Amino acid sequence: MPAQEQGSEKTKTFYLETFGCQMNAHDSEKVVGTLVSEGYRQVPTVEEAGLVLYNTCSIRDKAEQKVFNRLNDYKKYEKQGKKFGVLGCVAQQQGKEIFEKAPYVSLVAGSASYRNLPQMLVQLEAGNRRVTGLDDRETDECFETEFTARTNPHRGYITIIEGCDKFCSYCVVPFTRGKERSRTSESVLAEARQMAALGYTEIQLLGQNVNSYRDPAGDRAGKRSFAELLAAVAQVEGIRRVRFTTSHPRDFGRDIIEAIHAVPALCDHVHLPVQSGSTRVLDAMQRLYTREQYLERIAWMKAARREISITTDIIVGFPGETEADFQETLGLLDEVGYDGVFAFKYSPRPNTPSFTMLDAIPDEEKSRRLNVLLETQRALQKASYQKHVGQQIEVMVEGRNEARQQWQGRTSQNKTLNFTAPEGVSLEQGSYVPVVVTTAFPNSLLGEMVV
Ligand code: SAM
Ligand code: SF4
Repeated sequence: MPAQEQGSEKTKTFYLETFGCQMNAHDSEKVVGTLVSEGYRQVPTVEEAGLVLYNTCSIRDKAEQKVFNRLNDYKKYEKQGKKFGVLGCVAQQQGKEIFEKAPYVSLVAGSASYRNLPQMLVQLEAGNRRVTGLDDRETDECFETEFTARTNPHRGYITIIEGCDKFCSYCVVPFTRGKERSRTSESVLAEARQMAALGYTEIQLLGQNVNSYRDPAGDRAGKRSFAELLAAVAQVEGIRRVRFTTSHPRDFGRDIIEAIHAVPALCDHVHLPVQSGSTRVLDAMQRLYTREQYLERIAWMKAARREISITTDIIVGFPGETEADFQETLGLLDEVGYDGVFAFKYSPRPNTPSFTMLDAIPDEEKSRRLNVLLETQRALQKASYQKHVGQQIEVMVEGRNEARQQWQGRTSQNKTLNFTAPEGVSLEQGSYVPVVVTTAFPNSLLGEMVV
């Protein structure tokens, strides 16, 4: 029987696939919660769904292509009465052009418009074939909802700031997610308390640049800086771990390190994307700091009383990046001693200032630099992870690998620590146990549970 004839039971089902970063993953949890509160039911396959949604990423060209490939694969379903919606960064970036490229799409909405989803759903249900949410990038409002459908029952995200005002020359985010706007610290804390009451013990505060968090509480008492908000969330009863991402070096203050000193529940890990080790390239990227200023922040962290694990993002092959610039980036890996590096080949993005820059680096050269960088980092990490051998570290239990007869755990520094437990011991996901590290690999640790 065609879907149209199956009535609202069928049309009120949806399938959602998410691409991209943690912000998108968490946006999807809120989108799912909103749809469910509007009477929709989530289903695990496109075949079962009346409404098919893609929450998309356009940070690099490859991510964007994936969405159009997916839409092409599924266009055959239109005849069955299914509706398609494109959400997120590709939606905002391409706007109504999506309707021309893929005429079977009937909803296109960027993340700044999600708070209007219920109204958009009503239009969709009324048979409107061109529903849009694209004009909200200048809004001061955040997507706050009481209906977040979190997928992990122990560890969850909370968005504290949306959008970005930094305009790094290579990046689409300020164009797709709109201007920077923060939630009140009271609203963030209320959500943290709610999560604690539900049994969550780990919270990750999210934003494209969490360090430019500004509590919009006005002059009222209770207005908090980012470091104060961190400390307050970490002091919520029942919360054992608080993480935050992403930090921008320009806005990263010493008070964050002081908060990590003072509040044990704040995780001893900072993700501080550098992008390049060359001040010349950083300038072309409009990152607003020099190599020396970045290293100054690293020195603050290294002087901390608790050992703080540092990870980063790097772009190789930015237009005009010389071999000497690249060598400066390699040198930085050694100087900082990162515990993890997310490295990307530069991808020119439409509408960004660097899109039209000259001196493009050939793709093979970008690939070579990426491989050299990853190999260098692997060797450094292999050596640095060794320092944990013999240490006793608390992990949050994430699951079990039956084939290996091992439990999977995560440390406060966000490292994977797999471990064995005495026979007969059964551990609950989300519990915390002490583990002694016996072996180090470049990307994970192995140990034995302490009983
Ligand atoms: N706001 C964060 C920041 O400033 O680091 C994260 C932004 S983005 C979602 C994550 C990473 O993607 C960036 O840190 C950067 O390394 C990378 N990225 C962004 N635009 C890119 C581009 N055009 N080509 C390659 N990598 C890019
Ligand atoms: Fe993009 Fe720069 Fe904003 Fe990060 S800080 S989201 S890289 S513009």
